[in-house]
Amino acid sequence: MALRIELEAHLAQCLAVDRFRDYGPNGLQVEGRAEVRRLVSGVTASLALIDAAIADGADAILVHHGLFWRGQDGRLVGWLRQRVARLLAHDISLFAYHLPLDAHPALGNNAQLGLRLGLSADARFGEQDLGFIGSAPAATSLPEFALRVYTALGRAPLVLPGDGRPLRRLAWCTGGAQGHFEAAIAAGADAFVTGEVSEPQAHLARETGVAFLACGHHATERYGAPALGAHLAAHFEIQHQFIDIDNPA
Ligand SMILES: [Zn+2]
Repeated sequence: MALRIELEAHLAQCLAVDRFRDYGPNGLQVEGRAEVRRLVSGVTASLALIDAAIADGADAILVHHGLFWRGQDGRLVGWLRQRVARLLAHDISLFAYHLPLDAHPALGNNAQLGLRLGLSADARFGEQDLGFIGSAPAATSLPEFALRVYTALGRAPLVLPGDGRPLRRLAWCTGGAQGHFEAAIAAGADAFVTGEVSEPQAHLARETGVAFLACGHHATERYGAPALGAHLAAHFEIQHQFIDIDNPA
């Protein structure tokens, strides 16, 4: 068993939450019961995840995408009211960590995605050092690497091939990090891996010769929350289960 406040303090320190400028509050977003025996982790605090956590008997939920973001108008109505009402009715805490969970050097989304793809970073790049970059596995061609992504994530990436150069340096940043493509190019990447793609990246790939792989926002951010949950389970002797709510986006 762990106290909710112990979990909150441990997470704040472990993820260095004070170091990040973020789009929403990192930490306890909804306060539930004081003691935590069962923890459910997931990618997004969707209604489906909350309901699955209730069915699992969870005391707390740990996610990458919480409920509160900059740009919301502050009203607790509609879908947001439903999610919050469900949490409050069952006295379940919601912990959410956005950029701090992308960035953690071992448990974070970037590090954990790198593990699945056979990549390890020797440097960071871009805004708040969120991007990871490292040497590509020896003699990997772009089609081979795309196949590796498909095998690891169970999802075919959208590939913008660049100029066909050999892959020596690979950069990656999970989720909606398509805007970091230029920073990855400046950092010396031969290819950049992220979750989402927007229109400008197709032109940048053609004009700079650097390949771009959009591998799915959810698919690339599925690994940090369970790694962090497992870490908490070991540290505090609580039960933990990761629940993956399918998301094709
Ligand atoms: Zn995300």
